[in-house]
Amino acid sequence: MAQPNAKIRLHVAADLGPSLEVELVRDKAHYLFGVMRQREGDRLLLFNGRDGEWLAEVVSARRKTGTLRPIEQVREQSESPDLWLLFAPIKKARTDFIAEKACELGCRRILPVFTRHTASERVRTERLHAHAVEAAEQCGLLSVPEIAASTRLETVLADWPKDRQLLFCDETGPRPPAIEVLRRADPGPWAVLIGPEGGFSADEALQLRKMKLAHPVSLGPRILRADTAAVAALTLWQSVLGDWR
Ligand code: SAH
Repeated sequence: MAQPNAKIRLHVAADLGPSLEVELVRDKAHYLFGVMRQREGDRLLLFNGRDGEWLAEVVSARRKTGTLRPIEQVREQSESPDLWLLFAPIKKARTDFIAEKACELGCRRILPVFTRHTASERVRTERLHAHAVEAAEQCGLLSVPEIAASTRLETVLADWPKDRQLLFCDETGPRPPAIEVLRRADPGPWAVLIGPEGGFSADEALQLRKMKLAHPVSLGPRILRADTAAVAALTLWQSVLGDWR
């Protein structure tokens, strides 16, 4: 297998295979040829979430379009662990941070959820998707994590999958440390839930306490901001049950 010295990685929608050419859409062409100054004959890496990672060559480079030719597969497709992050969107920059870090830390799906005390009223799903693509390109992921449409927390919990455990990060009382709960837990599908800056409402906390699959846990004696709590909880999960082992 050739060791590509290509540094640029690009996510594309097209199928990748030995005799398939990839036509670039306008923004990718602009990035590759305008910003990154790639020219005909230059090499880069491509992935689409289905066909693994491919070394590819620029066949034609124009301002608003271009063609790439996959040369050989350099990594087979593999999936990140079956981990979701549910978080209550906060201010724009922190929401972007949470989405980006969740991608880097190997979440498969990111669900912004509105709670009673969620300050932010809307989430730009498209914008978070763009961050997810960028994080996937930079961090060597083979798939772009899915950004789910934002939903109310109670709706998501009412329709919760029967086989998915939920790490409910709860700063409100004496809770077992997250690492202990994870060490005793089954692997398999999981999700991490982080609340808003104002915490969960009494109704939400009650709904969560009633769920058999929800495990209330502590992330230590200090109250963390939501973005820190998300990174800390995902790190613990990956270390104990995920692909950091
Ligand atoms: N209700 C709090 C702050 C919430 S912090 C207040 O206003 O005082 C935001 C979220 O981060 C919480 O809902 C929780 O999910 C998570 N979190 C923060 N610190 C935590 C801790 N020490 N243990 C568990 N979860 C924590």
